[in-house]
Amino acid sequence: MKKPIYKYENLLRDINELKKTYPQTPVYSIGKSVDGKELYAIKIGNGSRKVFLNGCHHGMEWLTAKILIEFAKDISCEQSTMSTTVYIVPMVNPDGVEISASVDGWQANANGVDLNHNYDALWELSKQTELSYGIAEPGATRFGGEFPESEPETRAVANFTRQNKFDAAFALHSQGRVIYYDFCGIVPSGTEDYLKRFEQVSSYVRDVPDGIASYGGFKDWFIKKFRKPAFTIEVGKGKNPLPLSDFDKVYSEILPILYEAIK
Ligand SMILES: [Zn+2]
Repeated sequence: MKKPIYKYENLLRDINELKKTYPQTPVYSIGKSVDGKELYAIKIGNGSRKVFLNGCHHGMEWLTAKILIEFAKDISCEQSTMSTTVYIVPMVNPDGVEISASVDGWQANANGVDLNHNYDALWELSKQTELSYGIAEPGATRFGGEFPESEPETRAVANFTRQNKFDAAFALHSQGRVIYYDFCGIVPSGTEDYLKRFEQVSSYVRDVPDGIASYGGFKDWFIKKFRKPAFTIEVGKGKNPLPLSDFDKVYSEILPILYEAIK
């Protein structure tokens, strides 16, 4: 029997529940996936600082979508007291989640493009590295597309980011309990303060990626384009996909970090 996963249908159900409980919380679509699924954003709070949390750029990392929906529910009841406005896109790659249910190791979108290698941040270098890894065509992981933002999902997220001018951004991935924070040595001011607080409230540690993970990602692009703090947070520990039964444990370890992120 297949192990249960957190699918697009689960996300829709949770979003509807959130809308019922907190009708004042705006929920809207920022675009569609290759297969026509809506890419939902949730806006919580009314503070002047704007932060962006996104999850599930990668198909097997659906636990991050569940984490962000749960977090959206948790903070929706306190939104009148928040000093920030929090924008959450819980599932950037719903098609990839669906494919990962039947194809082992699937991280890409429905076109076989790895969305976290499809942003305009030394993308050409990312391509060269791909080729050195023997990746020349669409597939389960690491193919960065024909050009930056070639995919509807990355275009939607990038447009949404350009429109909203966020003060900081946090992309949830799995796994490893590590936090990536730089882009080719660029560390925007304010980054160190976040890292210190994250390390105070958790056992997650900062790290610097190497090889193919160094370019073309959302965090890379955000830092390069806006010169403001952005982080890739690798939640949990184990082998992807982390099982649904890990949820409570992973959520309790990441929750203090998320609260620091939206301060
Ligand atoms: Zn990932």
